[in-house]
Amino acid sequence: MKAAVFHELHHPLVVETVAEPRPAADEVVIRVGRCGICGSDLHMTEEPAFGIRQGAILGHEFAGEIVELGRETSGLRIGDRVAVAPLRGCGRCPACLAGEPAWCANMALQGGGYAEFALATERQCLRLPATTSLEDGALVEPLAVALHGVALSGLTAGARVLVMGAGPIGLGVAFWARRRGAAKVVVSDLTTLQEDRARRMGATGFVQVDGDALANVNAALGGAPDIIFECVGRPDIIAQALEHLRPRGTIVMLGLCTAPDSFVPFRAVSKEAKLITSAFFNLGEYQAALDALDGGAAPPHAMISDTVALAAMPAAFEALRQRTAQCKVMVRPG
Ligand SMILES: [Zn+2]
Ligand SMILES: [Zn+2]
Repeated sequence: MKAAVFHELHHPLVVETVAEPRPAADEVVIRVGRCGICGSDLHMTEEPAFGIRQGAILGHEFAGEIVELGRETSGLRIGDRVAVAPLRGCGRCPACLAGEPAWCANMALQGGGYAEFALATERQCLRLPATTSLEDGALVEPLAVALHGVALSGLTAGARVLVMGAGPIGLGVAFWARRRGAAKVVVSDLTTLQEDRARRMGATGFVQVDGDALANVNAALGGAPDIIFECVGRPDIIAQALEHLRPRGTIVMLGLCTAPDSFVPFRAVSKEAKLITSAFFNLGEYQAALDALDGGAAPPHAMISDTVALAAMPAAFEALRQRTAQCKVMVRPG
């Protein structure tokens, strides 16, 4: 089969022919229909901290059709269309049994979506309703990541919310914050490239970050934010969020910043700011994200900005390292 293969940090992925995956007893083989390109995959090909091995196939936001079943699987059939929750736990420990594979001691982030066929264990597969496309199925994972952050935030109806960063996670957060009853949701970013998309996803306002960001955000929200979602992941963003936050407000950190960062603790203490970090999701949230897509016409589709064939995927992947008008780029391996 064809796959986009990782060889070396700071080098583009290479589309080549590799062996087709064979399922272990508890696994299934999925013909990948769509796989979203994720910013964390870009990080993984730049930072040794992630420990990606030569020959790895990345891509953890995928949906497809089951084409082969391991001999101990029982709940799925050939031809089932599934979204794959990429958190692969042992399936037996208390965390796994509680639907929290993210916190299994043996958790691995399942890649493999940048290929014609991929493996997953049966327990990672959620069947798609007939009304949900494979394209929407590939959006479930980033939507679940966003939902987890919103769930942790303690957001209640009427909240004033600032989302810093208009990437797919930021837009997903805007979507859930509105669904959960936030009165105002303002998305901020360095450029206005994603303003229309943010509004389609549920944002009530958009602020381009410049010298007056503080005043502009407060004007758009009608006051200082109760909750700020940090979806940028660059140094200094926590310090900026602390300036924006209302006293006793909450900051949820979803960005993946791998560089040291600093802020003045007094700025946080003097506001009694709550700082919460958010990683991954639980399987209940994954199901909730899938349910939110059922029907096919839901706003999350607005995140998809392009769809590319596997052959064009490495170039599209590299192009995402620069700020562009792209949001969620889908790979269509077949
Ligand atoms: Zn992702
Ligand atoms: Zn486990």
